Amino acid sequence: MPNPRFADGEVVMGRWPGSVLYYEVQVTSYDDVSHLYTVKYKDGTELQLKESDIRSQSSFKHRKSQSSSSSPSRRSTSRSRSRSPGRPGRGRRRSSSQRREHKDDKKKTVQETNLALLKLSENNTRRYNGEPDSTERNDTSCISLEQKLKPDLEIERVLEQYSLHPRKEEKKREELYSEIIKTAEKAASKTKELEFGGRIGTFMLIFFLPAAVFYLLLMCKQDDPSLMNFPPPLPALESLWEARVFGVFLLWFFLQVLFSLLPIGKVVEGLTLSNGRKLQYRINGFYAFILTAAAIGTLLYFQFELHYLYDHFMQFAVAAAAFSLVLSIYLYIRSLKAPEEELAPGGNSGHFIYDFFTGHELNPRIGSFDLKYFCELRPGLIGWVVINLAMLLAEMKIHNQSMPSLSMILVNSFQLLYVVDALWNEEAILTTMDITHDGFGFMLAFGDLVWVPFVYSLQAFYLVGHPTAISWPVAAAITVLNGIGYYIFRSANSQKNNFRRNPSDPKLAYLKFIPTATGKGLLVTGWWGFVRHPNYLGDIIMALAWSLPCGFTHILPYFYVIYFICLLVHREARDEHHCKQKYGLAWERYCQRVPYRIFPYIY
Ligand code: NDP
Repeated sequence: MPNPRFADGEVVMGRWPGSVLYYEVQVTSYDDVSHLYTVKYKDGTELQLKESDIRSQSSFKHRKSQSSSSSPSRRSTSRSRSRSPGRPGRGRRRSSSQRREHKDDKKKTVQETNLALLKLSENNTRRYNGEPDSTERNDTSCISLEQKLKPDLEIERVLEQYSLHPRKEEKKREELYSEIIKTAEKAASKTKELEFGGRIGTFMLIFFLPAAVFYLLLMCKQDDPSLMNFPPPLPALESLWEARVFGVFLLWFFLQVLFSLLPIGKVVEGLTLSNGRKLQYRINGFYAFILTAAAIGTLLYFQFELHYLYDHFMQFAVAAAAFSLVLSIYLYIRSLKAPEEELAPGGNSGHFIYDFFTGHELNPRIGSFDLKYFCELRPGLIGWVVINLAMLLAEMKIHNQSMPSLSMILVNSFQLLYVVDALWNEEAILTTMDITHDGFGFMLAFGDLVWVPFVYSLQAFYLVGHPTAISWPVAAAITVLNGIGYYIFRSANSQKNNFRRNPSDPKLAYLKFIPTATGKGLLVTGWWGFVRHPNYLGDIIMALAWSLPCGFTHILPYFYVIYFICLLVHREARDEHHCKQKYGLAWERYCQRVPYRIFPYIY
């Protein structure tokens, strides 16, 4: 294997991507496998370059004497003009063949450099990511190697920062710009790292998740739902399906579609997508909730027996599961025709089962109707509240009570608060992983339409068959616990959302943050300086408060809190992984400053 021509630490001339211009750089390392040099420009930007894009300084000194007017090295040290390494020569005219050559050269370089950048982030190497030396200052002047993931704004910043566009060659700048975007999009959208146990894991989850719901509901129906009685006896197959129940489910789903289409509520823009576009979303979830409450109130007024839901609970779950499966198949089929840049970064592996499960298309829409956004907050989440109410009424009816039990009131109120909060702060969902990273496939379709309404309502379902009396002081203590959880959850989420929306908000001036190369800061004081996912901590405390009213006789009502801890620990690990890729060294510094992930002094 040939030795590298340039040694670590050597100061050489490196070609700037997308141009024929060379600037002074320092070689920081050489990769034997990829044969790429990592070089550092004077402003601190680090890139990987091929040997052919690097020249010794002496060869430039020679050329400089021949043509001083066009010497890039001269320009790179010329502070009076610009600190930009890329300001091109103005006096030089090229022949058409030279221009063509230059264009081809530029195109090739852009692609090569992008590939090099991808490789870098893929390996997740500890490299300079543009973070300034000091950890707390409002300086976001640097650029990141991960900017390929956000090619629009970030590449624009790169181009502008380095004045890569000649003043008289705007057109070429546009060519270069779109070239970079196209290459980055293509490369960035492929899913390289498989989550959830990869192909085998996702294949098993497709069967495991419906089976888990099925067995949980069967167990809950048992007089003695202890683990000793697992597995419960299976019901007759024909008892699981009723066309009328499926009809009611469809009615519910399309009623929510109708509510979501009403032209009420503001329209906001989502985050910038990889193709530079921003989708619009109508924020009317809270109105949909009010309209649903009015519709349910009307039904109750006309003596509609809402505990029909309780009586046919398993059939509803089966109907919802069947619907979510059909929806997932539809989503996968339509995703095959979706343009590459509209595929989910997390669900574009090329493996059918994996992509079917995690979701192939990021934002499937029928016209302006966004299927994922709709399913995330409407039929399942509002359905959860309606199911809880049905359980409350069923409890009163079955046990001949004039009032629901204190336990049932607590469970209903806590979960109602959670759902109303989600709908009231609907806009915040636009920055969550579900919307920005995960595609819409079986995982979210099943999660939104089956798991949330039928598993999250397990405590209320449990209480109907297993009445649990709690005293007022215990109820008060549980309420305080829920209040603490809610306070942490809400204030942590609001702190981050407000900071993301307007980092220079004077109300947030007391918060310190680590600047990162992407331009976004990482909060290191306030809730986000307490643990790295304070919102998960609050959510878990609330989950515990929802289970406690069910007493300690059985573990079944604690399924939610146990599952939720597993979910959030796994989710936290996924988020950490993404953040490390996004923010590099800045994220590592954040982790040093805030060592605990969710539970202070524990985890
Ligand atoms: P988060 O709201 O926790 O967002 C994580 C993102 O926040 C990161 O990717 C990063 O994104 C940003 N971030 C991380 N650290 C910092 C920091 N120090 N300063 C500023 N920004 C930071 O993600 P989720 O979508 O997982 O959760 C949203 C809410 O939904 C949570 O409250 C969670 O508990 C809840 N949830 C509930 C579920 C349920 O079933 N009930 C399921 C899942 C979540 P970037 O930097 O790109 O902005």
